[in-house]
Amino acid sequence: MIIKSLELDGYRNYEDLKIEFNQHTNIIHGNNAQGKTNILESIFVCGTTKSHRTNRDKELINFKREESHIRAYFEKNDMTYQIDMHLKKNKAKGIAVNGVLLRKAIDLYGIVNCVLFSPEDLNIIKNSPGERRKFLDILISMMDKVYIKNLVEYNKIIENRNKLLKDIAYDKSLIGLLDIWDKKLCDCGKQIIITRKKFINDLKIITSDMHKSLTGNKEDLLIDYEQNVNEDDMENEVFLNRDRDLYLKNTSIGPHRDDLIFLINDIDIRKYGSQGQQRTAALSLKLAEIELIKKNKNTKPILLLDDVLSELDSDRQNYLLNSLKDIQTIITCTGIDEFVKNRFKIDKVFRVEEGKVISES
Ligand code: ATP
Ligand code: MG
Repeated sequence: MIIKSLELDGYRNYEDLKIEFNQHTNIIHGNNAQGKTNILESIFVCGTTKSHRTNRDKELINFKREESHIRAYFEKNDMTYQIDMHLKKNKAKGIAVNGVLLRKAIDLYGIVNCVLFSPEDLNIIKNSPGERRKFLDILISMMDKVYIKNLVEYNKIIENRNKLLKDIAYDKSLIGLLDIWDKKLCDCGKQIIITRKKFINDLKIITSDMHKSLTGNKEDLLIDYEQNVNEDDMENEVFLNRDRDLYLKNTSIGPHRDDLIFLINDIDIRKYGSQGQQRTAALSLKLAEIELIKKNKNTKPILLLDDVLSELDSDRQNYLLNSLKDIQTIITCTGIDEFVKNRFKIDKVFRVEEGKVISES
């Protein structure tokens, strides 16, 4: 898959931008706070409907504008996709693919396959379980349309069940309704658990291989699924925890409480890993993401590397650069010297200055 061109109108610090990418390696360089990440972010939004930096569309709209537009042309397996996105301040966004308006934003999932490497990746390892679930959910949603539908449904069920738990505190006669929501919770929750299991199994094998290569066989990285509840026990556990849920007015059992475990040589690196170990594990995970997309989507994803090369030692840099062969890559950095030093083949260079992009080659 490649991105041919990108147009931004009132997006972040871009008044009006049009750029055409090379199908191989593109470099976007410029000083801090000029708009490099904003470009990668807008491409990521075309893949996932959301920014990796915020959940609020409002922040993506230029301070002086009321709305903003992204238009991008992609090519995948001889097909062309024109994605149009219309972001509004206090309303849901409008999305069209090849001129046809999507009924729901989530229908966009799976069309644009990209993998973003960013300094925030470290958060997947060291932040809260929510961060790891978000990583997992985006990854699986790219590959499985049923999963994203189930996830949206599941989140609604949790919202409704929690509301009911609060209402029961005022009106005990509502307790009978809990049976209905518990059944919905279990039916939908089990689907999510089963799909997560399947993808985590694949992810586990690939990530472990990647990590071995990255560390010259010195470290064993094991990812595992930390299930809040086993799918076969879910009905029973939900029932057993009813009183607690009624007391806390919150749903305590289900995949919304799942996590991913990261062990290096048997040590839990979420808590005890060094910064370097966590960073390498995040890199292994991202490299595995590329392989999973290749395997499941029959295409190579676009790689977006946001200022990550400078943080890696030269061995890891070389490993990463080697795995980018034959994949369209867009790299941001503050200076291009380090790439020249590594004899890195660059096909197109852009310079960004205060929301203006100048093509340098
Ligand atoms: P760094 O090298 O520090 O990562 P960068 O070039 O990646 O910098 P970006 O994050 O792409 O920088 O862009 C930051 C710029 O965009 C800042 O100047 C910020 O003020 C501006 N900006 C962010 N959101 C908006 C918005 N909604 N409207 C206008 N400008 C914005
Ligand atoms: Mg940046």
